[in-house]
Amino acid sequence: MKIIENGDLKYIQFDNINKTGIVRHFFSTRCGGVSEGEFCSMNLSFTRGDKSENVIKNFEIMEKETGINYKNIVMSRQTHTTNVHIVTKDDIGKGVTVENDLENTDGLITNEKGIAITTFSADCVPLFFVDTENKVIALAHAGWRGTVNGIALETVKKMTENFGTKPENIVAAIGPSIGKCCFQVDMPVVSEFMDKIENAKRFIEKDTEEGKFKIDLWGVNAFLMEKAGILKENIEITDLCTMCNPELFYSHRVMGNARGSMVAVMELI
Ligand SMILES: [Zn+2]
Repeated sequence: MKIIENGDLKYIQFDNINKTGIVRHFFSTRCGGVSEGEFCSMNLSFTRGDKSENVIKNFEIMEKETGINYKNIVMSRQTHTTNVHIVTKDDIGKGVTVENDLENTDGLITNEKGIAITTFSADCVPLFFVDTENKVIALAHAGWRGTVNGIALETVKKMTENFGTKPENIVAAIGPSIGKCCFQVDMPVVSEFMDKIENAKRFIEKDTEEGKFKIDLWGVNAFLMEKAGILKENIEITDLCTMCNPELFYSHRVMGNARGSMVAVMELI
């Protein structure tokens, strides 16, 4: 993973995904855009109250930098489900130029070129998947609910069922999100991880605050990716926490609803 800088602009790319040579991709930061106030400055969400013309300008800045045309973009309405949608050309522009009817959808998959799939987040974990053999890509939004309910497994399953993906051919990445340093939770969340994730203890530690715990969402998602058959050496994991780096990222836990959103974008070339 590296942070690429060009003037004020900063964005993130994964080395293993770049090495596949078959996609363009990025994960945005909040740096280098034109949005103001709480959206300062690289907000890429149309649904948080920012001016649309500023969001479009921000996408155009990213297009110049990465070659991903924002007119190819498909957005979904993320609601912390494990629902994964297969995207086709018919979906292009959803959430941008046409109404977004991809309700309750937290993962997107496509095998078509010229479609830029997206996942929005501001503490939740963005997951990237590239099948280098069959040329299929996927992005998933894994907050703690999506993580514990296995959206990583669901995404790989859908890639296999629909496109014959072999998990050993997948190159994957786990993007910036709230880290184990900051993801403090109560007992009910811990119980859910203990119920649903094998040997979940290894990902949970007691916090210094009484009755609170911390969970390693990167670790759980990496475990689930491996459980799905992805090779450990093909999984690149971020070390950037969205809560520890407020100059770089919007964080829901730090900023509440008065914030912009980062986005992961990926397109087959
Ligand atoms: Zn942190």
